[in-house]
Amino acid sequence: MGRFDGLPIRDELKAFEPYGAPQLDVPVLLNVNENPYAPSEETVADIANSVAAAARGLNRYPDREFLELRADLAAYLGRESGAQLTAEQIWAANGSNEVMLHLLQAFGGPGRKALSFAPTYSMYPEYARDTNTAWVTGRRAEDFTLDQSKALAAISRHRPSVVLLASPNNPTGTALPIQVVEALAARTAAIGAVLVVDEAYGEFRRAGTPSALSLLPSYPNLAVARTMSKAFALAGGRVGYLAASNQLVDALRIVRLPYHLSAVTQAVARAALRHSGELLSRVEQLRTERDETVTWLRGLGLRAVDSDANFVLFGLFADRHAVWQALLADGVLIRETGPDGWLRVSIGTGAEMAAFRASLERILKTDTGRLL
Ligand SMILES: *Cc1c(COP(=O)(O)O)cnc(C)c1O
Repeated sequence: MGRFDGLPIRDELKAFEPYGAPQLDVPVLLNVNENPYAPSEETVADIANSVAAAARGLNRYPDREFLELRADLAAYLGRESGAQLTAEQIWAANGSNEVMLHLLQAFGGPGRKALSFAPTYSMYPEYARDTNTAWVTGRRAEDFTLDQSKALAAISRHRPSVVLLASPNNPTGTALPIQVVEALAARTAAIGAVLVVDEAYGEFRRAGTPSALSLLPSYPNLAVARTMSKAFALAGGRVGYLAASNQLVDALRIVRLPYHLSAVTQAVARAALRHSGELLSRVEQLRTERDETVTWLRGLGLRAVDSDANFVLFGLFADRHAVWQALLADGVLIRETGPDGWLRVSIGTGAEMAAFRASLERILKTDTGRLL
């Protein structure tokens, strides 16, 4: 007896479990790369007032084109990266996961391929599966960087219609040099494909790493995805967005469901953007804490990957699941992800990181903490 007995579920979905990290009620949550700092009471009050104003019109459908929010997002990217963008060049949805699903709905589909480079974000193959797009991967190098000539060769060999590139990458934290991104933008343009650069962790990149937003004026086939879920401390608001050419955004307007972004979501996002200074004020501190975590892990004889994001991939453990479990027993939830032997820890508050360090130090002295 299968669990979908009697239902005409698509064959390719049968073997799957719903995706997602365990949501457990423990004191130290370092598993899904959230910003650990909640908004101030002043910001909460402004969000609440904006939601109340929206509530007075909830009998009506929301603004389907949400151009005010798109203008606010364009202005924010201008402040953050110096990008000169119009509202029409921005698209948004309920998290950047939905934005990227729109991309696959518009540019993938039966008879087409999407390409990425593993290890990378585990949701990408799901967008491909859900849109009946064939999924193909190239490999990142041992140190999780991308070899430009191999990546270009993979594009020429597979001829995908969509290439997905996370930079900084999840779960490794690795950002790509802008020259590599530009080479891939040029090659995808040459074969008529779309290049998606997923900058979910863009605000955490180290100084001197330019955003792919700087390439937008030259590449109408480029989409740079961002989210308010990570640095912006608004994971619960479900707002992701992208910047691209007008033509590319127009294609996404075809596949979106009508009124996909609720009036409440639009109000919350616009209020949060008015407080971007405060919401992003901990980014510098989280970056410092991240670099200190890498140094600390290496000091213990572990491997830790240099990170441009708000998490660190470390290992290599003989039994990573046992280490994950032992941390959990101490009330510290991290993520069992990435190639075998590695674990990923999100950067939390100083107190949360102290709890993580104390627990891991203890585990490393036991048989559970054996290294490979
Ligand atoms: C967290 C994350 C996202 C963003 O998810 P939302 O749907 O915006 O919350 C996108 N890409 C990567 C690589 C991520 O890690």
